[in-house]
Amino acid sequence: MPIDARAPYDDSNVFARILRGEIPCRKVYEDAHALAFHDINPQAPDHILVIPKGAYVSWDDFSERGSEAEMAGFVRAVGQVARDAGLVEPGYRLLANVGVNGHQEVPHLHVHIFGGRPLGPMLAR
Ligand code: AMP
Repeated sequence: MPIDARAPYDDSNVFARILRGEIPCRKVYEDAHALAFHDINPQAPDHILVIPKGAYVSWDDFSERGSEAEMAGFVRAVGQVARDAGLVEPGYRLLANVGVNGHQEVPHLHVHIFGGRPLGPMLAR
């Protein structure tokens, strides 16, 4: 079920548990501000999720409450992960679902990186 982008942070969400090391992930990158890992149900040949280490529900929450250092670190991490995956030259797509209409399911901010094939139009027509 999609979540409310303005809900209080729920410490038991699956990405919080990954950050605490309680459940495994296929990690591709980690630094002080961000963790990146393969999506468990990939929608493209390359499908990586990048999450901030801080407790932020959504892009809305992060852009309002995140520190300058957290935001800069997170944006740089997304770019670094895509470069490391060799996605810049062929191209890739970033996606952040927010709230109910965005169909966000995990209530910890995550940016999807999709690549590995031509991705077609932005939304289903
Ligand atoms: P969203 O609809 O933007 O909230 O997307 C949530 C994404 O998290 C989906 O693409 C799921 O496949 C992915 N996901 C859920 N649980 C895990 C997990 N344990 N490890 C990796 N990806 C996950």
